[in-house]
Amino acid sequence: LPALDVARLRQDFPILQRAVHGQPLVYLDNAATSQKPWSVIEAERHYYAHYNANIHRGVHQMSQEATEAYEAARDRVRDFIHASSREEIIFTRGTTESINLVASSFGQRLQAGDEILITEMEHHSNIVPWQLLCQRSGALLRVAPIDDAGQLCVEQFAKLLGPRTRLVALSHMSNALGSINPVKKLVNLAHQVGAVVLLDGAQAVAHLPVNVMDIDCDFYAFSGHKLYGPTGIGVLYARRAILDSMPPYQGGGDMIREVRFAGSSWNDLPYKFEAGTPNIAGGIGLGAALDYVGGVGLAAIAAHESELLRYATALAGEFPGLTQIGTAADKGAILSFTLAGIHPHDIGTILDSCGVAVRTGHHCAMPVMEHFGVPATVRASFALYNTRHEIDTLFQGLTKAREMFG
Ligand code: PMP
Repeated sequence: LPALDVARLRQDFPILQRAVHGQPLVYLDNAATSQKPWSVIEAERHYYAHYNANIHRGVHQMSQEATEAYEAARDRVRDFIHASSREEIIFTRGTTESINLVASSFGQRLQAGDEILITEMEHHSNIVPWQLLCQRSGALLRVAPIDDAGQLCVEQFAKLLGPRTRLVALSHMSNALGSINPVKKLVNLAHQVGAVVLLDGAQAVAHLPVNVMDIDCDFYAFSGHKLYGPTGIGVLYARRAILDSMPPYQGGGDMIREVRFAGSSWNDLPYKFEAGTPNIAGGIGLGAALDYVGGVGLAAIAAHESELLRYATALAGEFPGLTQIGTAADKGAILSFTLAGIHPHDIGTILDSCGVAVRTGHHCAMPVMEHFGVPATVRASFALYNTRHEIDTLFQGLTKAREMFG
């Protein structure tokens, strides 16, 4: 696999030219949101400047152009995750809305005593919608534990599956720990008890090739903005047979076939689940992001990032007082840690003064923090445009933090 020409790729991201507090920006908060290449920024600008119109309705030229561009983006998403048909690709606002869609629509078939199985490493957006569904339906939430490396305990997971398990929802890759779950195996275990499986792919899609047919999951959710695309656009993939049997999520324009006061009927898939004017520019921008990622190559991106992670992990191992949180054998490009005697927030502030952007806090995964007995961690997360030099800058900043607070 040829190495990425990172110096050249960095030219594609205008924001990487800026300074923060007089220092060159070192952006290591990619798990929160990644930066956007010119091609994505241009795709949105071009839509607004040249063919801004509502979609799926007008006979006029611009409406047709906008519809074609938006629907072409759907085809690219289908391609990107290897879904069998475009009808299985629903555009949403992001991972959070995709999960809420499943909880409100699919969730209507859950009854008191049914069980939903999640894991201890989930993001709040893959916990709270299920808690709300449990409150509405009387279903019970079960939680599969993680071990002290931050890996799912697969045996415990298997034991928690049973005849009452209707739905299993888990992350493909953890945002707080970087752990990658053996999803194909887990899906297979869940299917053996007849449960339906939703995978939260918010982190995974930017770091590993995803093939939903091979994984055999029933739902797969992700956001555009962590994948070099715009905010406010995301995807829910769902198996066609399940979508056919699900009631609509929101009501409104575009999701109907006919509306009468006596009752309405629903549009074909995927439009049945897409009420109202969508984020047209965002969809077009997401299509451009997928073209960009496809052009660079996810396998090459993954290889570059795992090299960065190896390098950062080695430096972390030698750094006095540093404890890594999340040391899974199979791990994406996330380094989460604490430094003895220094609050993560103070570390974040010192790093910021060095131009280094990291995330500090609970990373919307409070149960993970509770498992490790810490209120917060510092999280450095890598993307295709990061370099070893930037990781050196991170550790110089940590040395400065230790000198000031340690
Ligand atoms: N799940 C995971 C694993 C995430 O990392 C995130 C974003 N931090 C989400 C869900 C929620 O994504 P969004 O805020 O884009 O809806």
